[in-house]
Amino acid sequence: MINLNSSISQLKGVGKVISNKLFKLDIETIEDLLYYFPWRYDDIGETKKISELKIGEIANIQGEIELIQNKRSFKKRLNITEALITDDSGTIKVVWFNQAYLSRNLKAGDNVSLTGKLEEKNGQASLNSPVYEKIIKGQKLIHTQGIIPFYHLSAGISNKQLRHLLKQVISLTKKLKDTLPLDTKKRLDLLDLGSAIEKIHFPQDKDDIKKAQKRLAFEELFELQIKSLSLKKELKDKKSPAIEFHQKETKEFVSSLPFDLMPAQKQSAWEILQDMKSEKPMTRLLQGDVGSGKTVVATIALLNSALRKQKDKVENEQSLLMAPTEILAQQHFQTIQKLLKDFDIKISLYTRSFKEANFIIQEKNTEKEEKEKKTKTKTKKKEKIKDEKYFEADIIIGTHSLIQNKTPIEKPALVIVDEQHRFGVEQRQKLAKRTDNLTPHYLSLTATPIPRSLALSIYGHLDVSNIKTTPKERQKINTKVVSEENKNKVHQFIKQRMQNNEQIFVICPLVDPSDKLGVKSVKEEYKNLSENVFPDINIAFLHGKMKAEEKTKVMQDFLSNKFKILVSTSVVEVGVDVANATVMMIEDASRFGLAQLHQFRGRVGRSDKKSYCFLMLSEISSTKSKERLQVLEKYNNGFKIAEEDLKLRGSGEMYGTIQSGFPELKFASLFDLDLIKKAQEEAKIYIKKDK
Ligand code: ADP
Ligand code: MG
Repeated sequence: MINLNSSISQLKGVGKVISNKLFKLDIETIEDLLYYFPWRYDDIGETKKISELKIGEIANIQGEIELIQNKRSFKKRLNITEALITDDSGTIKVVWFNQAYLSRNLKAGDNVSLTGKLEEKNGQASLNSPVYEKIIKGQKLIHTQGIIPFYHLSAGISNKQLRHLLKQVISLTKKLKDTLPLDTKKRLDLLDLGSAIEKIHFPQDKDDIKKAQKRLAFEELFELQIKSLSLKKELKDKKSPAIEFHQKETKEFVSSLPFDLMPAQKQSAWEILQDMKSEKPMTRLLQGDVGSGKTVVATIALLNSALRKQKDKVENEQSLLMAPTEILAQQHFQTIQKLLKDFDIKISLYTRSFKEANFIIQEKNTEKEEKEKKTKTKTKKKEKIKDEKYFEADIIIGTHSLIQNKTPIEKPALVIVDEQHRFGVEQRQKLAKRTDNLTPHYLSLTATPIPRSLALSIYGHLDVSNIKTTPKERQKINTKVVSEENKNKVHQFIKQRMQNNEQIFVICPLVDPSDKLGVKSVKEEYKNLSENVFPDINIAFLHGKMKAEEKTKVMQDFLSNKFKILVSTSVVEVGVDVANATVMMIEDASRFGLAQLHQFRGRVGRSDKKSYCFLMLSEISSTKSKERLQVLEKYNNGFKIAEEDLKLRGSGEMYGTIQSGFPELKFASLFDLDLIKKAQEEAKIYIKKDK
């Protein structure tokens, strides 16, 4: 018997190959599969008569196969499958390319449902490469008719395969445990969990999608509220170390910077330092658009916390800075080392698991004249590091895994989290629980804007600092949506920039080529650019499947301008700072969310040089996706972009999951203040009852 916990490999037709591919999408059990949500839908509308079909229109027809045969076109090296389909209004020619297996699956006499675009060539109309499924009595059509879900895919799984698997298990949604209180569901007229999940995959009409989305959105907000209320309780009696404001050193630090701090940076730093002075645990969000200069503000906090440790001789206390990726952690390590070079503070980098950490600790040489020569970085690789050695550090920089339960950090005094793209309620809660005596101050840095009302309602007591400006010499990034046929022009432009000794990012959605989807991949693009387009230029690539050391090396080399073009997946999305890069070219841009694209764009324009962002539209993109991308041409402000994105969605295009920028909110919108308020009310009622 298959149940929710069964492995997906128990499903019919799922062998090793497919289950491995599903693993890559984090789908291991039936329940995971049910929780793999569509990101958009197509509404195919009513089935059309063949005689009603119009050239250029996408439609569904249903009929009988009169004839089906394979042909080879040697000139074009294509395998062509041709068929004639008849319904009671007429007959139409259907053509598929390079899908020879079709003539084995489909036979004359079969009834089929086809969805595709009618095209005309040399005066003859044909339906080209339509999606097909056999009509079998008693079975619902799921690929070609009505409202059809689309999923974010990678790893060579198709939408069709996924829908097919989901159909097999969709009845198990009844067994999902519904955690929303019954009276809450009644008051708000919300669907049961099971039917919501069923409808999100196989909606009958638009109303189904709306209702399912509302239920799932509410649940996300409700859970967040419950967590936030219990966090509040948790923190109520907790104390944090009081970290004095070291005015003299802070001033020294600020005047050592190669630039003047902006007023908003000063203000934010001041607010943070005020919080840290108190024994009341700080829970603060530092919000500022990409490139607004949050790192230096965070460094001021780290500096003060490190100074307290040294001056008060508190043993084994650390301040932590955590980044979402190793590349970013490494970069922060270097940046902050440089920023704090005049201070006698030990900074260490901690990556991967503790046992095989690349432990780097820099010890400043106190002899000033020898500084240049002797400031050496001692690196010990893959060596078990003794705890005592580790505790020598005043500041530890690493990835988000730094505060996993087992890391031997005894007394974190200050924890700064960079770009975690979460609300961080859970993380804050974990830290609160960590020690019985003192709980660390907590500061979260984010470029993803949260409306203030939501921030307040989610954390209850959260404080927000805002850097609303960007350093003044920075210019607006010239952004352009470019169609595939104008790609040459972009390449020409890139050539000029490179002659100017500037560097280029090229982003692709996938790592490996996948011809089925026609989506650009890093490996393909790298090959194309280095062999055909720019054979004389040094180009490198970067993706998440590479080893950490390889990634680091590539980033280092890019930073030191050893090569000109970096072809990469979204691993460079957050925080990476290469001031000399002036062009960001994004392939298949419509596959990314606007917030994410805005992040990519923030990788350039980080110096006084004019920078550019090209959003490439693939051939298959719709006008809708062009419109969406044009929001980025118009606006440079993350908050505005998020708002516009949402408006476009509201205007009729049906979306499954929403890209709010926060993984906790797949369905809920940051701007749905009404639902947020209701979730808050209901959470309060629930918590009271629970006592
Ligand atoms: P983000 O807020 O996206 O993390 P960073 O902290 O990485 O931004 O800062 C982006 C760049 O701007 C860095 O190179 C940093 O040195 C520089 N920077 C920060 N503050 C200022 C300032 N006040 N004036 C000029 N440049 C600044
Ligand atoms: Mg940053």
